[in-house]
Amino acid sequence: MIYNRCGRSGLLLPAISLGLWHNFGGDADPANKSALCRRAFDLGITHFDLANNYGPPPGSAEEAFGAILKNDFKAHRDHLIISTKAGYHMWDGPYGEWGSRKYLIASLDQSLRRLGLPYVDIYYSHRFDPDTPLEETMRALDFAVRSGRALYVGISNYPAEATHRAAKILRDLGTPSLIHQPRYNMLQREPEREGVFDAVADEGMGAIVFSPLAQGLLSNRYMNGIPSDSRATLGQFLKSDQVSDTLLAKTRVLQGIATRRGQSLAQMAVRWVLRLPVVTSALIGASKVVQIEEAVAALAAPAFTESELAAIEECLSSH
Ligand code: NDP
Repeated sequence: MIYNRCGRSGLLLPAISLGLWHNFGGDADPANKSALCRRAFDLGITHFDLANNYGPPPGSAEEAFGAILKNDFKAHRDHLIISTKAGYHMWDGPYGEWGSRKYLIASLDQSLRRLGLPYVDIYYSHRFDPDTPLEETMRALDFAVRSGRALYVGISNYPAEATHRAAKILRDLGTPSLIHQPRYNMLQREPEREGVFDAVADEGMGAIVFSPLAQGLLSNRYMNGIPSDSRATLGQFLKSDQVSDTLLAKTRVLQGIATRRGQSLAQMAVRWVLRLPVVTSALIGASKVVQIEEAVAALAAPAFTESELAAIEECLSSH
């Protein structure tokens, strides 16, 4: 594993981190959940990413990871970076979502109970709340650290301007913003185009980018139809109509470039997000142990040549 420094902090994160958004809910096989985390850790993935609402049902992924911590990682708490977040809908009524201090602290206490932990390593504001003063949200993150509930804080899905403002408020409070978690992959490049990566770099933060495989679209998963055990079949966050002929034409060209590099498309997709110095870690998901092994093996490939990058750009812009 390669460990990258997260911005201008003291914290090193693995170049590949594992997220528990999918495949860790109450209906998922406990043996598979445990196998995914154990194999990831054995391959040097020290960072596991959660949120209050991961499941289904919401909260169940944290409960599952709490069990894994107890049963599989008991001796390894100090080898692990565990993150959670609050921002999206978690419970009914006016205090169960967005960015108030009330919600963020109550949700963190619930997360800690589900995880069976006294503190998490990173606590995030999961989304920018346009109706709550940013000072209140950032003060809640600062309080999470000062009260011993979190070691570091971060923001996720924040636009560039709010990223600058959040970083300044946190710096003034004495709890620097460690990290930003935006979505970024070859098909979804907003952080590059809308100034988020520039803001992250300017503020001395790191970026951990989620869905580097575009939920599996940037792999061979859908090349021959939609498998019955795939995320597109579940249809909740990835719809089967996203597997379009246009997309498949594009991914076939990308796969050709990957093959010439000696990689699978999934491996090239992971390596591609990591080409930017601002990206500390690629935050993958997995339903099978082999998917994690494939992603980690991507790190052994050589850096991209200028002509490979140009060929990728041409494919992305021309189809
Ligand atoms: P990816 O883009 O890595 O998608 C993962 C999915 O791709 C897997 O579940 C699997 O789908 C498929 N896949 C993975 N590897 C392979 C492979 N080698 N070959 C073929 N298919 C493969 O990431 P996610 O969308 O899962 O997101 C990762 C994490 O990012 C989440 O768990 C969460 O922690 C975080 N996240 C954060 C958000 C935020 O708002 N901050 C929002 C979304 C995610 P299948 O299940 O079909 O096998």
